[in-house]
Amino acid sequence: MTVTVGVLALQGGFQRHCDALAHLDHPSRRVSSRLVRTPEDLAGVDSLIIPGGESTTIGMLLERFGLMEPLRGRIRSGMPVMGTCAGTILLAQTIEGSEQPRIGTLPITVQRNAYGRQVASFEADLRLPEDELPFRAVFIRAPVITRVPSDVTVLATFEDNPVMIRRESILALTFHPELTGDQRIHRLFLAMS
Ligand code: GLN
Repeated sequence: MTVTVGVLALQGGFQRHCDALAHLDHPSRRVSSRLVRTPEDLAGVDSLIIPGGESTTIGMLLERFGLMEPLRGRIRSGMPVMGTCAGTILLAQTIEGSEQPRIGTLPITVQRNAYGRQVASFEADLRLPEDELPFRAVFIRAPVITRVPSDVTVLATFEDNPVMIRRESILALTFHPELTGDQRIHRLFLAMS
């Protein structure tokens, strides 16, 4: 079975996600990846990764490229989606202190740049569910998820804050799983796709 995984490619770190997908090995699924920039591109994918970058810019470009409504529609009808960092900000219903354009289909609250602008990035070892091996997570000007409703599953935390969550077919992370060569999170998303 071949799954076509789209990577939203308006701005930000989409290329490394494509590289990660190109190297993904899975016993029963083959992956083909496709850059998504138009509603037509979106219509041709089975699932979508929304990469890190600048959430204000990506949100503005989603509107300008006519992708915002089609994307909300696909997500509401169950298309698997993985947001990483800015991608998670864009999925969040509430962004503290900001009215920036967003997809808004995930009922969580986030605070942008919550670790401070100066301490721009850091790495931490996370514990994934049912996995002994730590996952080295890279956080870059990361948000903090400050509120999650009870129907959200928290899959990983850092300093007591959720950093990887799942609600139905939406997977949202505040870090960058595409930068370390560890395939586990992309493989998990492929299993959802
Ligand atoms: N700070 C960025 C924003 O608010 C997100 C950073 C990232 O995606 N690495 O959009």
